[in-house]
Amino acid sequence: MKKDTIIIGAGLVGSLLSIYLSKKGHKVKLYERRSDMRKEKIVAGRSINLALSDRGIKALEEVGIMEEIKKIAIPMHGRYIHNADGSTAYQPYGNDGQFINSVSRGELNKMLMNLAEANGAEIFFNEKCESINWKENKISFQHTANFLPTIINYQLFFGSDGAYSAARLNHQLQHDRFQYQQHYIDFGYKELTIPSGSNGEFLMEKNALHIWPRGNFMLIALPNIDGSFTCTLFFPFEGETSFASLDTKEKVKIFFEKTFADAADLIPTLEDDFFNNPTASLVTVKCFPWIRDNKFALIGDAAHAIVPFFGQGMNCGFEDCSVLNNLIGKHNDNWKNILEEYQILRKPDGDAIAQLALNNFIEMRDKVGDPKFLLQKKIEAAFSKKHPDKWTPAYAQVTFSPQIRYSDALKNSIKQEAIMQQVMALPDIENIWQTGEVEQMMLEKLLG
Ligand code: FAD
Repeated sequence: MKKDTIIIGAGLVGSLLSIYLSKKGHKVKLYERRSDMRKEKIVAGRSINLALSDRGIKALEEVGIMEEIKKIAIPMHGRYIHNADGSTAYQPYGNDGQFINSVSRGELNKMLMNLAEANGAEIFFNEKCESINWKENKISFQHTANFLPTIINYQLFFGSDGAYSAARLNHQLQHDRFQYQQHYIDFGYKELTIPSGSNGEFLMEKNALHIWPRGNFMLIALPNIDGSFTCTLFFPFEGETSFASLDTKEKVKIFFEKTFADAADLIPTLEDDFFNNPTASLVTVKCFPWIRDNKFALIGDAAHAIVPFFGQGMNCGFEDCSVLNNLIGKHNDNWKNILEEYQILRKPDGDAIAQLALNNFIEMRDKVGDPKFLLQKKIEAAFSKKHPDKWTPAYAQVTFSPQIRYSDALKNSIKQEAIMQQVMALPDIENIWQTGEVEQMMLEKLLG
């Protein structure tokens, strides 16, 4: 049955979901706490640009918007590593033709909102979800400017209101035996900007994701279409080298010049930006159930907020929408069955990508600068090239293989890592890795 559907949160995932549902003939209303970003300049709070990869692309293709998005996307074919000694190295992400894309969060969200409205969804801005009466199927909103309340009835509603979801708080958390876990890592992040050159040119390699790995922390930079780069410093909150210890402009300047010398030269307003831009925290949220009866589901970050180190939060949320869309077709609008299968399929995948994302922090901030790790990746890449049906590197499974579930990618990556630990422990591996002996060992371990 087609239902009047309410979506709380017109962020990336809520807007995309509304497009899928409208295309299926549902009457969709989106309620968004913020004002309309297409009319007003929103002060960027976090992550100005995002890495869009194959899972997200698949969903955007399904709703027919990917060609438009390509116009604002910058392909990033690999990691460009800036080592502490000033040397640089380039590591391709995958095979030729495999790349991720730097996309402006704001522009993507605006395009999705436009398409949502073009497909018949209505978006109500400045409406903050305040409470939910699930017994009477009513949601209360308060207008953020005039404070007037609105109460609406729902038949079916989705909470796509992000990591600190009011839908999760006001609905699921009110129920007995709702499992809820939030975990903050000891690292926060701060955004800084490398502006374009005087002629609008990029001052570093354009088609790469730049990383300054420094063991316990790192700086990264993604390109923007105006020639600038958005840099993000992932850094401990406390300790000897931390946000807490860099408490004067002088200390920030000295630290950057010593630690990220080539980047420091390119950030003219470094000290001011460091103190004017917010320091934000990084949370993983796990909860269960994601659904209630045949009328409510959490989706996107509201169901599974993860740390950003695999560049998958949005991609995962987009994949949620794509999976849900397939289930609507499969279960012929029987919402009890649709939501149940959605939860069965997506909860293990949400948990898996949360774990993979945490693991990738250590890889990015530390291992990408380690020669032994680079050799391991080289061996894996060579083996995978020779046996593509037997070995897809973990990064490629997550990023370029939407046909592989995150939960399978996690299982495969654990198995592969165990094999590689044994390979890397072989005496003189640096010189023997191209021998048939190593290849044979990997083949046997894979079967074992
Ligand atoms: P959100 O984007 O948080 O949107 C939620 C919406 O709900 C917002 O518009 C909000 O205003 C609204 N809302 C909130 N509360 C209420 C309320 N009470 N009433 C009404 N509306 C409400 N992902 C990637 O795939 N690739 C990346 O490279 C990447 N990089 C990231 C870098 C950083 C530093 C961070 C923090 C995240 C990154 N992510 C990335 C993750 C990505 O940002 C999220 O996964 C994605 O934004 C989730 O979309 P969402 O729509 O579920 O939630």
